[in-house]
Amino acid sequence: MEGGESTVSAKELEVAVKAVHLACGLCERVQRRLVSSRGVERGGTSPPIISSKDDDSPVTVADWGVQAIVSWLLSESFGSENVSIVAEEDVEALSESNSRGLLSAVVDAVNECLADAPRFELPKPDKILSDLDVVGAIKRCNATGGPKGRFWVLDPIDGTLGFVRGNQYAVALALMVDGKVVLGVLGCPNYPVNREFLSYHHQYYNTAQHSSTTANGLSEKGCVLYATRGSRKAWMQPLVRGENGFTWKGDARVIRVSSIDDPAMATICEPVEKANSDHTFTAGVADSVGLGNQPLRVYSMVKYAAIARGDAEVFMKFSRSGYKEKIWDHAAGVVIVEEAGGVMTDAGGRPLDFSRGVYLEGLDRGIIACCCPVLHEKIVGAVYASWESSNL
Ligand SMILES: [Mg+2]
Repeated sequence: MEGGESTVSAKELEVAVKAVHLACGLCERVQRRLVSSRGVERGGTSPPIISSKDDDSPVTVADWGVQAIVSWLLSESFGSENVSIVAEEDVEALSESNSRGLLSAVVDAVNECLADAPRFELPKPDKILSDLDVVGAIKRCNATGGPKGRFWVLDPIDGTLGFVRGNQYAVALALMVDGKVVLGVLGCPNYPVNREFLSYHHQYYNTAQHSSTTANGLSEKGCVLYATRGSRKAWMQPLVRGENGFTWKGDARVIRVSSIDDPAMATICEPVEKANSDHTFTAGVADSVGLGNQPLRVYSMVKYAAIARGDAEVFMKFSRSGYKEKIWDHAAGVVIVEEAGGVMTDAGGRPLDFSRGVYLEGLDRGIIACCCPVLHEKIVGAVYASWESSNL
């Protein structure tokens, strides 16, 4: 496969990209069911798809399903004794969430998805995975990160709220070695492959309607982006939808950040949800550097895809006090943006530190990603100037 380099083995790159690609198929099936049935756990007659976590954020069959699949595939490919994974979802929440019904739905989704694994030349189970197998795979993702060793970082669905609403979300897998992110893979099933299909306020409530394939067999939406540290290149593959789900074509093209360095021409990308970030402060900063275009509001790490691919020039996220950013929400995106030519730091201009466990400890106020150093410097300067007057 294209894009490999020495820190990351060719096999690690290949398995990671294919596993994310395959997992996007599970997400798409679950999202289609969700959007068509609005199936909810409590009181509904449809099979359960959604539950909620302690903090009331949603978690779905697809969050657990993707975690199980990626964990199972990595273990099969490299040996479970060699694989450590830091991941978002907790198996206790699945066991506690009523819900024999929910677990069965996860197990079914996982088996249905792994049946497609041979099309990707990925391992397939000899027999249908049991509840115990699936719970075991989810549970194995119990690494806690840190400065030493080799481990994978997984957000099975980044932007679950967007996912549940039929909108954008991402499957994010990264590999870290000794505290540094060396590989990032981002699956974005609803993100258009071609820029001309990008509509800034596009909703995907009817996913089936938007999954038509073009004459050359490439779907109009859905892509997997990836990059390995030091390669100075990031790549994008379209998701290829066949008659019976996703299939593997393996053709990737190099992507590059935007060449715009004039704030008046630049577009800022920001979170949809206000819960963990501050739009007013972001708007103030954007205003003070003279960012000219309307913001592109996107759920999830798809924002990093937008920067890496040159669809937007600036991403800023300022956490509300008390909220700590987790490594799985950023690891895959950071390496892709940087290798595509972008600059990413905290609001103080320092590199993000992934080496201190599951949180981005020591993060100075927020995260800033830009397509070039010129814009980055202006944004960091504007943040300094605006900070005093903000009440975050
Ligand atoms: Mg998630």
